[in-house]
Amino acid sequence: MVGVLDYRSAEAVLSEYADRDGLDVATLMNSKANGGLTYNDFLMLPGKIDFPASVVSLESKITKNIALKTPFVSSPMDTVTEADMAIYMALLGGVGIIHHNCAADEQAAMVRKVKKYENGFISDPVVLAPSMTIGEAKVLKQKLGFAGFPVTDSGKVPGKLVGIVTSRDIQFLDDDDVLVRDVMTTDLVTAPEGVTLLEANDILRRSKKGKLPIVDAAGNLTALLSRTDLKKNLHYPLASKLPKSKQLLCGAAVGTRPEDRDRLAKLAAAGLDIVILDSSQGNSIFQIEMIKWVKQEFTGLEVIAGNVVTREQAASLIAAGADGLRIGMGSGSICITQEVMAVGRPQATAVRAVCEFAARFGVPCIADGGIGNIGHITKALALGASAVMMGGLLAGTTESPGKYFYKDGQRLKAYRGMGSIDAMEQQSDSNNAATARYFSEGDKVLVAQGVSGSVVDRGSITKFIPYLVTGLQHGLQDIGVRSLEHLQEGVNAGTVRFELRTASAQVEGGVHGLYSYEKRLYN
Ligand code: GDP
Ligand code: GDP
Ligand code: GDP
Ligand code: 5GP
Repeated sequence: MVGVLDYRSAEAVLSEYADRDGLDVATLMNSKANGGLTYNDFLMLPGKIDFPASVVSLESKITKNIALKTPFVSSPMDTVTEADMAIYMALLGGVGIIHHNCAADEQAAMVRKVKKYENGFISDPVVLAPSMTIGEAKVLKQKLGFAGFPVTDSGKVPGKLVGIVTSRDIQFLDDDDVLVRDVMTTDLVTAPEGVTLLEANDILRRSKKGKLPIVDAAGNLTALLSRTDLKKNLHYPLASKLPKSKQLLCGAAVGTRPEDRDRLAKLAAAGLDIVILDSSQGNSIFQIEMIKWVKQEFTGLEVIAGNVVTREQAASLIAAGADGLRIGMGSGSICITQEVMAVGRPQATAVRAVCEFAARFGVPCIADGGIGNIGHITKALALGASAVMMGGLLAGTTESPGKYFYKDGQRLKAYRGMGSIDAMEQQSDSNNAATARYFSEGDKVLVAQGVSGSVVDRGSITKFIPYLVTGLQHGLQDIGVRSLEHLQEGVNAGTVRFELRTASAQVEGGVHGLYSYEKRLYN
Protein backbone atom coordinates (compact mmCIF):
# COMPACT_ATOMS: atom_id res chain seq x y z
CA MET A 1 0.00 0.00 0.00
CA VAL A 2 1.32 3.49 -0.87
CA GLY A 3 1.49 5.56 2.27
CA VAL A 4 0.15 9.14 2.37
CA LEU A 5 2.97 11.63 2.79
CA ASP A 6 3.06 14.18 5.55
CA TYR A 7 1.37 17.32 4.15
CA ARG A 8 4.14 19.51 5.59
CA SER A 9 6.64 17.92 3.23
CA ALA A 10 4.71 18.99 0.07
CA GLU A 11 7.23 21.58 -1.05
CA ALA A 12 10.24 19.44 -0.27
CA VAL A 13 8.79 16.53 -2.23
CA LEU A 14 8.71 18.69 -5.34
CA SER A 15 12.45 18.27 -5.63
CA GLU A 16 11.97 14.56 -6.26
CA TYR A 17 10.48 15.36 -9.65
CA ALA A 18 12.99 15.54 -12.47
CA ASP A 19 11.41 18.68 -13.85
CA ARG A 20 8.90 21.39 -13.02
CA ASP A 21 5.31 21.11 -14.08
CA GLY A 22 4.62 22.30 -17.66
CA LEU A 23 7.14 22.91 -20.45
CA ASP A 24 10.25 25.00 -20.67
CA VAL A 25 10.41 27.42 -23.59
CA ALA A 26 12.71 25.25 -25.73
CA THR A 27 10.39 22.27 -25.50
CA LEU A 28 7.36 24.46 -26.18
CA MET A 29 9.03 25.93 -29.22
CA ASN A 30 10.32 22.69 -30.66
CA SER A 31 8.56 23.47 -33.92
CA LYS A 32 9.92 20.38 -35.59
CA ALA A 33 7.66 18.46 -33.23
CA ASN A 34 4.79 20.88 -32.73
CA GLY A 35 4.69 23.04 -35.87
CA GLY A 36 4.88 26.81 -35.68
CA LEU A 37 2.92 28.33 -32.82
CA THR A 38 0.74 31.40 -32.58
CA TYR A 39 0.06 33.22 -29.31
CA ASN A 40 -3.21 31.31 -28.96
CA ASP A 41 -1.50 27.93 -29.11
CA PHE A 42 -0.03 28.04 -25.62
CA LEU A 43 -0.51 29.41 -22.13
CA MET A 44 1.80 30.31 -19.29
CA LEU A 45 1.58 28.58 -15.96
CA PRO A 46 1.04 30.59 -12.78
CA GLY A 47 3.85 31.19 -10.30
CA LYS A 48 3.76 32.57 -6.77
CA ILE A 49 2.41 36.00 -5.88
CA ASP A 50 4.21 37.82 -3.10
CA PHE A 51 3.97 41.42 -4.32
CA PRO A 52 1.24 43.80 -5.54
CA ALA A 53 0.68 44.17 -9.30
CA SER A 54 1.31 47.89 -9.08
CA VAL A 55 5.02 47.37 -8.35
CA VAL A 56 5.59 45.35 -11.53
CA SER A 57 8.07 47.25 -13.73
CA LEU A 58 7.41 47.26 -17.46
CA GLU A 59 10.56 49.12 -18.36
CA SER A 60 12.22 47.73 -21.45
CA LYS A 61 14.79 48.61 -24.10
CA ILE A 62 13.49 48.97 -27.64
CA THR A 63 16.83 49.67 -29.23
CA LYS A 64 20.40 49.26 -28.03
CA ASN A 65 20.30 52.75 -26.50
CA ILE A 66 16.65 53.61 -25.84
CA ALA A 67 14.47 52.26 -23.02
CA LEU A 68 10.74 52.85 -22.53
CA LYS A 69 8.68 52.73 -19.33
CA THR A 70 5.91 50.83 -21.15
CA PRO A 71 6.68 48.36 -23.96
CA PHE A 72 4.16 49.68 -26.49
CA VAL A 73 4.80 50.90 -30.02
CA SER A 74 2.21 52.11 -32.53
CA SER A 75 2.56 50.85 -36.06
CA PRO A 76 3.71 53.02 -38.99
CA MET A 77 0.41 52.76 -40.86
CA ASP A 78 -1.60 55.62 -42.33
CA THR A 79 -4.67 54.65 -40.30
CA VAL A 80 -2.69 54.34 -37.06
CA THR A 81 0.19 56.76 -36.49
CA GLU A 82 0.40 60.43 -37.30
CA ALA A 83 1.50 63.22 -34.93
CA ASP A 84 -1.39 62.91 -32.43
CA MET A 85 -0.90 59.18 -31.93
CA ALA A 86 2.88 59.65 -31.62
CA ILE A 87 2.47 62.42 -29.03
CA TYR A 88 0.12 60.41 -26.82
CA MET A 89 2.01 57.13 -27.22
CA ALA A 90 5.13 58.93 -25.97
CA LEU A 91 3.28 60.74 -23.17
CA LEU A 92 1.93 57.38 -21.98
CA GLY A 93 5.38 55.77 -21.89
CA GLY A 94 5.56 54.09 -25.31
CA VAL A 95 6.51 55.45 -28.69
CA GLY A 96 4.74 56.12 -31.99
CA ILE A 97 6.24 55.42 -35.40
CA ILE A 98 4.97 57.91 -37.99
CA HIS A 99 4.02 56.32 -41.31
CA HIS A 100 5.59 57.29 -44.65
CA ASN A 101 2.66 56.99 -47.03
CA CYS A 102 2.86 60.77 -47.53
CA ALA A 103 5.26 63.39 -48.84
CA ALA A 104 8.59 63.63 -47.03
CA ASP A 105 7.83 67.21 -45.93
CA GLU A 106 4.50 66.18 -44.44
CA GLN A 107 6.16 63.38 -42.51
CA ALA A 108 8.91 65.73 -41.29
CA ALA A 109 6.26 68.25 -40.15
CA MET A 110 4.62 65.51 -38.08
CA VAL A 111 7.94 64.59 -36.47
CA ARG A 112 8.59 68.26 -35.71
CA LYS A 113 5.17 68.58 -34.09
CA VAL A 114 5.90 65.66 -31.76
CA LYS A 115 9.35 66.97 -30.89
CA LYS A 116 8.02 70.48 -30.15
CA TYR A 117 5.13 69.27 -28.03
CA GLU A 118 6.96 69.18 -24.72
CA ASN A 119 10.21 70.83 -23.70
CA GLY A 120 12.58 71.58 -20.91
CA PHE A 121 14.44 74.64 -22.12
CA ILE A 122 13.04 75.67 -25.49
CA SER A 123 16.33 76.49 -27.18
CA ASP A 124 14.88 77.97 -30.37
CA PRO A 125 11.73 79.76 -29.21
CA VAL A 126 9.59 81.52 -31.78
CA VAL A 127 10.01 85.25 -31.17
CA LEU A 128 8.52 88.49 -32.48
CA ALA A 129 10.12 91.81 -33.42
CA PRO A 130 8.72 95.00 -31.83
CA SER A 131 7.76 96.32 -35.27
CA MET A 132 5.57 93.33 -36.13
CA THR A 133 1.80 93.58 -35.90
CA ILE A 134 -0.64 91.75 -33.66
CA GLY A 135 -2.17 90.35 -36.85
CA GLU A 136 1.12 88.62 -37.58
CA ALA A 137 1.26 87.25 -34.02
CA LYS A 138 -2.27 85.87 -34.40
CA VAL A 139 -1.32 84.12 -37.64
CA LEU A 140 1.64 82.53 -35.85
CA LYS A 141 -0.62 81.42 -33.02
CA GLN A 142 -3.02 79.87 -35.52
CA LYS A 143 -0.19 78.04 -37.23
CA LEU A 144 1.85 76.92 -34.23
CA GLY A 145 -0.78 76.41 -31.55
CA PHE A 146 0.92 78.56 -28.92
CA ALA A 147 0.96 82.31 -28.37
CA GLY A 148 3.64 82.99 -25.78
CA PHE A 149 6.15 84.96 -27.82
CA PRO A 150 9.18 86.72 -26.36
CA VAL A 151 10.04 89.91 -28.24
CA THR A 152 13.65 90.63 -29.22
CA ASP A 153 14.96 93.80 -30.82
CA SER A 154 16.01 91.92 -33.96
CA GLY A 155 13.08 89.50 -34.04
CA LYS A 156 15.65 86.67 -33.81
CA VAL A 157 17.27 84.36 -31.25
CA PRO A 158 19.68 85.28 -29.83
CA GLY A 159 18.65 88.94 -29.75
CA LYS A 160 18.14 91.47 -26.97
CA LEU A 161 15.00 90.62 -24.99
CA VAL A 162 12.74 93.65 -24.93
CA GLY A 163 9.35 92.23 -23.93
CA ILE A 164 6.84 89.41 -24.16
CA VAL A 165 3.44 88.96 -25.78
CA THR A 166 1.10 86.20 -24.59
CA SER A 167 -2.48 85.12 -25.37
CA ARG A 168 -3.80 87.49 -22.75
CA ASP A 169 -2.18 90.47 -24.43
CA ILE A 170 -3.83 89.91 -27.79
CA GLN A 171 -7.06 88.11 -26.92
CA PHE A 172 -9.39 91.11 -26.95
CA LEU A 173 -7.61 93.22 -29.56
CA ASP A 174 -9.71 93.59 -32.70
CA ASP A 175 -7.30 95.89 -34.51
CA ASP A 176 -4.73 93.63 -36.14
CA ASP A 177 -2.56 96.61 -37.14
CA VAL A 178 -1.56 97.41 -33.57
CA LEU A 179 2.18 96.96 -33.16
CA VAL A 180 3.78 94.38 -30.89
CA ARG A 181 5.81 97.12 -29.15
CA ASP A 182 2.55 98.80 -28.05
CA VAL A 183 1.06 95.77 -26.30
CA MET A 184 4.06 93.82 -25.08
CA THR A 185 4.88 93.56 -21.38
CA THR A 186 8.35 94.91 -20.72
CA ASP A 187 8.73 94.40 -16.99
CA LEU A 188 9.84 90.77 -17.16
CA VAL A 189 10.74 87.99 -14.78
CA THR A 190 13.75 86.26 -16.35
CA ALA A 191 16.43 83.76 -15.36
CA PRO A 192 20.12 83.87 -16.22
CA GLU A 193 21.69 81.53 -18.74
CA GLY A 194 23.34 78.55 -17.01
CA VAL A 195 20.46 78.11 -14.58
CA THR A 196 19.53 74.43 -14.13
CA LEU A 197 16.15 73.17 -15.27
CA LEU A 198 15.29 72.48 -11.64
CA GLU A 199 16.07 76.06 -10.60
CA ALA A 200 14.38 77.57 -13.64
CA ASN A 201 11.22 75.53 -13.02
CA ASP A 202 11.22 76.83 -9.48
CA ILE A 203 11.50 80.45 -10.59
CA LEU A 204 8.69 79.83 -13.09
CA ARG A 205 6.46 78.35 -10.39
CA ARG A 206 7.10 81.24 -8.04
CA SER A 207 6.60 83.93 -10.72
CA LYS A 208 3.14 82.50 -11.48
CA LYS A 209 3.66 83.48 -15.12
CA GLY A 210 3.17 81.24 -18.11
CA LYS A 211 6.67 81.73 -19.53
CA LEU A 212 10.18 82.27 -18.26
CA PRO A 213 12.66 83.80 -20.69
CA ILE A 214 16.32 82.87 -20.15
CA VAL A 215 18.85 85.62 -20.88
CA ASP A 216 22.64 85.89 -21.04
CA ALA A 217 24.71 88.51 -19.24
CA ALA A 218 24.15 91.02 -22.06
CA GLY A 219 20.37 90.61 -21.87
CA ASN A 220 20.04 88.47 -25.00
CA LEU A 221 17.27 85.88 -25.06
CA THR A 222 18.78 82.39 -25.33
CA ALA A 223 15.90 80.10 -24.34
CA LEU A 224 12.39 79.96 -22.94
CA LEU A 225 10.56 77.86 -20.36
CA SER A 226 6.80 77.18 -20.49
CA ARG A 227 4.58 76.43 -17.50
CA THR A 228 2.45 74.14 -19.67
CA ASP A 229 5.45 71.78 -19.80
CA LEU A 230 5.50 71.48 -16.01
CA LYS A 231 1.86 70.41 -16.16
CA LYS A 232 2.56 67.90 -18.93
CA ASN A 233 5.39 66.45 -16.86
CA LEU A 234 3.11 66.15 -13.85
CA HIS A 235 0.23 64.51 -15.74
CA TYR A 236 2.34 62.00 -17.67
CA PRO A 237 4.95 60.58 -15.29
CA LEU A 238 5.78 57.64 -17.60
CA ALA A 239 6.44 59.81 -20.67
CA SER A 240 9.21 58.70 -23.03
CA LYS A 241 11.50 61.71 -23.10
CA LEU A 242 15.06 62.57 -23.85
CA PRO A 243 16.80 63.05 -20.49
CA LYS A 244 18.30 66.42 -21.35
CA SER A 245 15.87 68.27 -23.61
CA LYS A 246 12.73 66.64 -22.10
CA GLN A 247 11.36 66.39 -25.63
CA LEU A 248 9.17 63.41 -26.43
CA LEU A 249 10.72 60.47 -28.26
CA CYS A 250 9.57 60.13 -31.82
CA GLY A 251 9.98 57.37 -34.37
CA ALA A 252 9.24 57.29 -38.08
CA ALA A 253 9.38 54.74 -40.86
CA VAL A 254 11.14 55.05 -44.20
CA GLY A 255 11.82 52.70 -47.08
CA THR A 256 15.17 51.65 -48.46
CA ARG A 257 15.24 53.31 -51.88
CA PRO A 258 17.61 56.16 -52.81
CA GLU A 259 14.79 58.77 -52.31
CA ASP A 260 14.36 57.54 -48.78
CA ARG A 261 17.79 58.88 -47.93
CA ASP A 262 16.59 62.44 -48.69
CA ARG A 263 13.43 61.74 -46.73
CA LEU A 264 15.42 60.55 -43.74
CA ALA A 265 17.65 63.64 -43.85
CA LYS A 266 14.49 65.76 -43.46
CA LEU A 267 13.20 63.63 -40.59
CA ALA A 268 16.56 63.79 -38.83
CA ALA A 269 16.59 67.58 -39.19
CA ALA A 270 13.17 67.60 -37.51
CA GLY A 271 14.69 65.77 -34.53
CA LEU A 272 13.84 62.12 -35.20
CA ASP A 273 15.11 59.65 -32.55
CA ILE A 274 14.29 56.24 -34.06
CA VAL A 275 13.99 55.23 -37.69
CA ILE A 276 12.30 52.01 -38.72
CA LEU A 277 13.30 50.58 -42.07
CA ASP A 278 9.91 49.48 -43.26
CA SER A 279 9.91 46.34 -45.33
CA SER A 280 7.79 43.21 -45.22
CA GLN A 281 10.93 41.11 -45.90
CA GLY A 282 13.87 42.90 -44.36
CA ASN A 283 16.67 40.63 -45.45
CA SER A 284 17.53 42.49 -48.64
CA ILE A 285 20.69 44.02 -49.94
CA PHE A 286 18.89 47.42 -50.05
CA GLN A 287 18.19 47.28 -46.37
CA ILE A 288 21.67 46.13 -45.40
CA GLU A 289 23.17 49.05 -47.31
CA MET A 290 20.65 51.45 -45.82
CA ILE A 291 21.48 50.37 -42.25
CA LYS A 292 25.18 50.95 -42.85
CA TRP A 293 24.50 54.32 -44.47
CA VAL A 294 22.24 55.52 -41.65
CA LYS A 295 24.70 54.45 -38.94
CA GLN A 296 27.45 56.31 -40.75
CA GLU A 297 25.48 59.49 -41.57
CA PHE A 298 23.41 60.10 -38.45
CA THR A 299 25.08 59.62 -35.11
CA GLY A 300 22.54 59.21 -32.36
CA LEU A 301 19.73 58.02 -34.63
CA GLU A 302 18.65 54.50 -33.67
CA VAL A 303 17.84 52.12 -36.53
CA ILE A 304 15.26 49.37 -36.22
CA ALA A 305 15.50 46.96 -39.14
CA GLY A 306 13.08 44.32 -40.39
CA ASN A 307 10.77 42.70 -40.76
CA VAL A 308 12.28 39.33 -39.99
CA VAL A 309 10.98 35.97 -38.78
CA THR A 310 14.08 33.77 -38.94
CA ARG A 311 17.50 33.70 -37.30
CA GLU A 312 19.15 33.85 -40.71
CA GLN A 313 17.35 37.07 -41.67
CA ALA A 314 18.16 38.54 -38.27
CA ALA A 315 21.85 37.69 -38.56
CA SER A 316 22.26 39.77 -41.77
CA LEU A 317 20.65 42.83 -40.24
CA ILE A 318 22.44 42.54 -36.89
CA ALA A 319 25.74 42.22 -38.73
CA ALA A 320 24.94 45.37 -40.71
CA GLY A 321 24.56 47.30 -37.44
CA ALA A 322 20.83 47.32 -36.62
CA ASP A 323 20.03 48.76 -33.17
CA GLY A 324 16.78 46.82 -32.99
CA LEU A 325 14.69 44.36 -35.00
CA ARG A 326 11.02 44.16 -35.90
CA ILE A 327 9.55 40.67 -36.06
CA GLY A 328 6.52 39.51 -38.00
CA MET A 329 5.49 38.34 -41.43
CA GLY A 330 1.89 37.67 -42.15
CA SER A 331 0.57 37.84 -38.59
CA GLY A 332 -1.05 41.28 -38.83
CA SER A 333 -4.83 41.50 -38.51
CA ILE A 334 -5.18 43.10 -41.98
CA CYS A 335 -2.62 40.89 -43.60
CA ILE A 336 -2.93 38.29 -46.37
CA THR A 337 0.77 37.71 -47.05
CA GLN A 338 0.80 34.09 -45.91
CA GLU A 339 -2.18 33.35 -48.14
CA VAL A 340 -0.81 35.07 -51.22
CA MET A 341 2.96 34.62 -50.95
CA ALA A 342 3.08 31.31 -49.13
CA VAL A 343 5.75 32.95 -47.01
CA GLY A 344 5.69 33.97 -43.37
CA ARG A 345 5.78 32.30 -39.98
CA PRO A 346 3.42 31.81 -37.05
CA GLN A 347 4.18 34.77 -34.82
CA ALA A 348 5.02 33.13 -31.49
CA THR A 349 7.59 30.85 -33.13
CA ALA A 350 9.04 33.77 -35.11
CA VAL A 351 9.33 35.92 -31.98
CA ARG A 352 11.13 33.23 -30.00
CA ALA A 353 13.50 32.23 -32.80
CA VAL A 354 14.60 35.78 -33.53
CA CYS A 355 14.65 37.12 -29.95
CA GLU A 356 16.70 34.22 -28.63
CA PHE A 357 19.30 34.88 -31.32
CA ALA A 358 19.28 38.70 -31.18
CA ALA A 359 19.61 38.71 -27.38
CA ARG A 360 23.07 37.20 -27.77
CA PHE A 361 24.14 40.45 -29.47
CA GLY A 362 22.21 42.78 -27.15
CA VAL A 363 19.77 43.70 -29.92
CA PRO A 364 16.20 44.28 -28.67
CA CYS A 365 13.25 43.09 -30.78
CA ILE A 366 9.72 44.35 -31.33
CA ALA A 367 6.98 41.75 -31.86
CA ASP A 368 4.93 43.29 -34.67
CA GLY A 369 1.43 42.21 -35.64
CA GLY A 370 -1.21 39.86 -34.38
CA ILE A 371 -1.59 41.48 -30.95
CA GLY A 372 -5.28 41.16 -30.21
CA ASN A 373 -5.40 41.30 -26.42
CA ILE A 374 -3.26 41.74 -23.31
CA GLY A 375 -2.53 38.01 -23.10
CA HIS A 376 -0.84 38.19 -26.49
CA ILE A 377 1.35 41.03 -25.21
CA THR A 378 2.40 39.05 -22.12
CA LYS A 379 3.25 36.04 -24.29
CA ALA A 380 5.25 38.06 -26.84
CA LEU A 381 7.31 39.61 -24.05
CA ALA A 382 7.78 36.24 -22.34
CA LEU A 383 9.16 34.83 -25.59
CA GLY A 384 11.84 37.52 -25.54
CA ALA A 385 10.37 40.54 -27.29
CA SER A 386 11.27 43.88 -25.72
CA ALA A 387 8.10 45.58 -26.93
CA VAL A 388 5.02 44.96 -29.01
CA MET A 389 3.89 46.90 -32.06
CA MET A 390 0.16 47.35 -32.51
CA GLY A 391 -1.87 48.40 -35.54
CA GLY A 392 -5.43 47.17 -35.27
CA LEU A 393 -5.67 47.58 -31.50
CA LEU A 394 -4.89 51.30 -31.75
CA ALA A 395 -6.64 52.02 -35.04
CA GLY A 396 -10.11 52.89 -33.79
CA THR A 397 -8.95 55.40 -31.18
CA THR A 398 -9.42 59.15 -30.88
CA GLU A 399 -5.71 59.66 -31.60
CA SER A 400 -5.60 57.58 -34.80
CA PRO A 401 -5.94 59.42 -38.14
CA GLY A 402 -9.30 59.60 -39.91
CA LYS A 403 -12.86 60.42 -38.98
CA TYR A 404 -15.38 58.18 -37.26
CA PHE A 405 -18.35 57.00 -39.32
CA TYR A 406 -21.42 54.92 -38.57
CA LYS A 407 -22.37 51.59 -40.12
CA ASP A 408 -24.99 49.14 -38.85
CA GLY A 409 -25.34 51.28 -35.74
CA GLN A 410 -21.62 50.98 -34.91
CA ARG A 411 -19.18 53.87 -34.61
CA LEU A 412 -16.18 52.91 -36.73
CA LYS A 413 -12.88 54.14 -38.12
CA ALA A 414 -11.13 52.91 -41.25
CA TYR A 415 -8.19 50.54 -40.79
CA ARG A 416 -6.24 49.24 -43.76
CA GLY A 417 -3.11 47.25 -44.47
CA MET A 418 -0.25 49.20 -46.01
CA GLY A 419 -0.11 46.44 -48.61
CA SER A 420 -3.81 46.77 -49.47
CA ILE A 421 -4.67 47.96 -52.97
CA ASP A 422 -6.24 51.03 -51.35
CA ALA A 423 -3.02 52.09 -49.64
CA MET A 424 -0.78 51.17 -52.56
CA GLU A 425 -2.89 53.23 -54.95
CA GLN A 426 -2.63 56.33 -52.83
CA GLN A 427 0.21 57.92 -54.73
CA SER A 428 2.06 60.54 -52.78
CA ASP A 429 5.24 62.37 -53.50
CA SER A 430 6.79 60.94 -56.62
CA ASN A 431 6.90 57.57 -54.94
CA ASN A 432 4.67 55.34 -52.93
CA ALA A 433 5.85 53.98 -49.62
CA ALA A 434 3.22 51.26 -49.55
CA THR A 435 4.19 49.68 -52.88
CA ALA A 436 7.87 49.82 -51.93
CA ARG A 437 7.28 48.08 -48.60
CA TYR A 438 5.98 45.10 -50.52
CA PHE A 439 8.54 45.38 -53.35
CA SER A 440 5.70 46.17 -55.78
CA GLU A 441 6.89 49.44 -57.30
CA GLY A 442 7.29 49.07 -61.04
CA ASP A 443 4.91 46.10 -61.19
CA LYS A 444 2.17 46.30 -63.82
CA VAL A 445 -0.19 44.40 -61.57
CA LEU A 446 -0.42 45.32 -57.90
CA VAL A 447 -0.65 42.18 -55.79
CA ALA A 448 -2.32 42.94 -52.48
CA GLN A 449 -0.79 41.69 -49.24
CA GLY A 450 -3.37 43.36 -47.06
CA VAL A 451 -7.02 44.28 -46.83
CA SER A 452 -8.89 47.47 -46.19
CA GLY A 453 -11.61 47.57 -43.56
CA SER A 454 -12.80 49.20 -40.38
CA VAL A 455 -12.59 48.78 -36.61
CA VAL A 456 -14.93 49.73 -33.78
CA ASP A 457 -14.40 52.96 -31.81
CA ARG A 458 -12.03 52.23 -28.95
CA GLY A 459 -12.08 55.64 -27.27
CA SER A 460 -8.91 57.47 -26.37
CA ILE A 461 -5.53 55.79 -25.89
CA THR A 462 -5.23 57.85 -22.71
CA LYS A 463 -7.62 55.24 -21.26
CA PHE A 464 -6.66 52.26 -23.43
CA ILE A 465 -2.88 52.27 -22.83
CA PRO A 466 -3.29 52.47 -19.02
CA TYR A 467 -5.66 49.48 -19.34
CA LEU A 468 -2.92 47.57 -21.20
CA VAL A 469 -0.35 48.62 -18.57
CA THR A 470 -2.47 47.47 -15.63
CA GLY A 471 -3.52 44.26 -17.36
CA LEU A 472 0.08 43.41 -18.20
CA GLN A 473 1.16 44.09 -14.61
CA HIS A 474 -1.51 41.66 -13.40
CA GLY A 475 -0.37 39.04 -15.93
CA LEU A 476 3.21 39.25 -14.68
CA GLN A 477 1.96 39.09 -11.10
CA ASP A 478 0.13 35.82 -11.88
CA ILE A 479 3.30 34.41 -13.41
CA GLY A 480 5.09 35.50 -10.24
CA VAL A 481 7.61 37.93 -11.70
CA ARG A 482 8.14 41.57 -10.75
CA SER A 483 9.48 42.93 -14.02
CA LEU A 484 9.89 42.17 -17.70
CA GLU A 485 13.53 41.49 -17.00
CA HIS A 486 12.60 38.84 -14.42
CA LEU A 487 10.04 37.40 -16.80
CA GLN A 488 12.63 36.84 -19.51
CA GLU A 489 15.23 35.58 -17.04
CA GLY A 490 12.66 33.12 -15.69
CA VAL A 491 11.78 31.88 -19.17
CA ASN A 492 15.43 31.38 -20.08
CA ALA A 493 16.19 29.64 -16.78
CA GLY A 494 13.20 27.33 -17.21
CA THR A 495 11.42 28.53 -14.06
CA VAL A 496 8.63 30.28 -15.97
CA ARG A 497 6.65 27.44 -17.55
CA PHE A 498 4.37 27.00 -20.53
CA GLU A 499 1.64 24.62 -21.66
CA LEU A 500 0.50 23.82 -25.16
CA ARG A 501 -3.17 24.49 -25.79
CA THR A 502 -5.25 22.01 -27.75
CA ALA A 503 -8.14 23.23 -29.90
CA SER A 504 -10.59 22.26 -27.16
CA ALA A 505 -8.43 23.99 -24.55
CA GLN A 506 -8.81 27.16 -26.58
CA VAL A 507 -12.58 26.77 -26.58
CA GLU A 508 -12.50 26.16 -22.83
CA GLY A 509 -10.35 29.27 -22.30
CA GLY A 510 -12.82 31.50 -24.10
CA VAL A 511 -16.28 32.51 -22.90
CA HIS A 512 -18.59 29.55 -23.49
CA GLY A 513 -22.00 28.19 -22.62
CA LEU A 514 -23.75 31.54 -22.24
CA TYR A 515 -26.93 32.58 -23.99
CA SER A 516 -25.64 36.13 -24.37
CA TYR A 517 -23.02 38.35 -22.81
CA GLU A 518 -21.38 41.74 -23.07
CA LYS A 519 -17.59 41.93 -23.25
CA ARG A 520 -16.56 45.17 -21.56
CA LEU A 521 -12.80 45.20 -21.15
CA TYR A 522 -12.28 48.19 -18.85
CA ASN A 523 -14.19 51.03 -17.27
P1 GDP B 1 12.02 63.66 -13.61
O1 GDP B 1 12.32 63.76 -12.14
O2 GDP B 1 11.81 62.27 -14.10
O3 GDP B 1 10.89 64.55 -14.02
O4 GDP B 1 13.30 64.10 -14.43
P2 GDP B 1 14.56 64.95 -13.96
O5 GDP B 1 15.04 64.48 -12.66
O6 GDP B 1 15.52 65.02 -15.10
O7 GDP B 1 13.88 66.36 -13.79
C1 GDP B 1 14.60 67.52 -13.55
C2 GDP B 1 13.63 68.64 -13.48
O8 GDP B 1 13.03 68.81 -14.76
C3 GDP B 1 12.47 68.41 -12.51
O9 GDP B 1 12.20 69.66 -11.90
C4 GDP B 1 11.32 68.03 -13.40
O10 GDP B 1 10.08 68.40 -12.85
C5 GDP B 1 11.62 68.85 -14.63
N1 GDP B 1 11.03 68.39 -15.87
C6 GDP B 1 10.81 67.12 -16.29
N2 GDP B 1 10.24 67.14 -17.49
C7 GDP B 1 10.08 68.45 -17.83
C8 GDP B 1 9.55 69.10 -18.95
O11 GDP B 1 9.07 68.49 -19.90
N3 GDP B 1 9.61 70.46 -18.96
C9 GDP B 1 10.12 71.17 -17.94
N4 GDP B 1 10.14 72.50 -18.03
N5 GDP B 1 10.62 70.57 -16.86
C10 GDP B 1 10.60 69.24 -16.81
P1 GDP C 1 1.20 79.50 -24.97
O1 GDP C 1 1.07 79.81 -23.49
O2 GDP C 1 0.17 80.09 -25.82
O3 GDP C 1 2.60 79.78 -25.47
O4 GDP C 1 0.96 77.98 -25.19
P2 GDP C 1 0.97 76.71 -24.24
O5 GDP C 1 0.66 77.04 -22.83
O6 GDP C 1 0.13 75.70 -24.90
O7 GDP C 1 2.48 76.23 -24.25
C1 GDP C 1 3.23 76.11 -25.39
C2 GDP C 1 3.68 74.66 -25.64
O8 GDP C 1 4.35 74.63 -26.88
C3 GDP C 1 4.67 74.19 -24.60
O9 GDP C 1 4.50 72.82 -24.36
C4 GDP C 1 6.02 74.47 -25.27
O10 GDP C 1 7.07 73.60 -24.88
C5 GDP C 1 5.69 74.23 -26.72
N1 GDP C 1 6.57 75.02 -27.58
C6 GDP C 1 7.43 74.50 -28.48
N2 GDP C 1 8.11 75.47 -29.10
C7 GDP C 1 7.70 76.64 -28.57
C8 GDP C 1 8.04 77.99 -28.80
O11 GDP C 1 8.87 78.33 -29.65
N3 GDP C 1 7.41 78.91 -28.05
C9 GDP C 1 6.45 78.60 -27.13
N4 GDP C 1 5.85 79.57 -26.46
N5 GDP C 1 6.10 77.32 -26.89
C10 GDP C 1 6.71 76.35 -27.59
P1 GDP D 1 -1.07 83.71 -20.66
O1 GDP D 1 -1.85 83.45 -19.45
O2 GDP D 1 -0.92 82.54 -21.58
O3 GDP D 1 -1.50 84.90 -21.43
O4 GDP D 1 0.46 84.00 -20.24
P2 GDP D 1 1.24 84.62 -18.99
O5 GDP D 1 0.73 84.14 -17.70
O6 GDP D 1 2.68 84.41 -19.33
O7 GDP D 1 1.01 86.17 -19.13
C1 GDP D 1 0.03 86.91 -18.42
C2 GDP D 1 0.31 88.38 -18.52
O8 GDP D 1 1.46 88.70 -17.75
C3 GDP D 1 0.61 88.89 -19.93
O9 GDP D 1 0.04 90.16 -20.07
C4 GDP D 1 2.13 89.00 -19.94
O10 GDP D 1 2.56 89.93 -20.91
C5 GDP D 1 2.39 89.49 -18.51
N1 GDP D 1 3.74 89.38 -17.95
C6 GDP D 1 4.32 90.28 -17.13
N2 GDP D 1 5.56 89.95 -16.78
C7 GDP D 1 5.80 88.80 -17.34
C8 GDP D 1 6.91 87.95 -17.32
O11 GDP D 1 7.96 88.17 -16.71
N3 GDP D 1 6.77 86.81 -18.00
C9 GDP D 1 5.61 86.54 -18.65
N4 GDP D 1 5.52 85.41 -19.26
N5 GDP D 1 4.56 87.34 -18.71
C10 GDP D 1 4.65 88.47 -18.06
P1 5GP E 1 -2.04 44.27 -36.28
O1 5GP E 1 -1.54 44.94 -35.04
O2 5GP E 1 -3.20 44.98 -36.88
O3 5GP E 1 -2.33 42.82 -36.07
O4 5GP E 1 -0.83 44.28 -37.33
C1 5GP E 1 -0.15 45.44 -37.69
C2 5GP E 1 1.09 45.07 -38.49
O5 5GP E 1 0.75 44.42 -39.71
C3 5GP E 1 1.91 46.27 -38.95
O6 5GP E 1 2.74 46.76 -37.95
C4 5GP E 1 2.68 45.72 -40.15
O7 5GP E 1 3.86 45.06 -39.77
C5 5GP E 1 1.75 44.70 -40.70
N1 5GP E 1 1.05 45.20 -41.88
C6 5GP E 1 0.52 46.41 -42.09
N2 5GP E 1 -0.11 46.46 -43.29
C7 5GP E 1 0.05 45.24 -43.84
C8 5GP E 1 -0.35 44.68 -45.07
O8 5GP E 1 -1.04 45.27 -45.89
N3 5GP E 1 0.07 43.40 -45.31
C9 5GP E 1 0.83 42.72 -44.42
N4 5GP E 1 1.26 41.52 -44.76
N5 5GP E 1 1.18 43.21 -43.23
C10 5GP E 1 0.80 44.45 -42.94
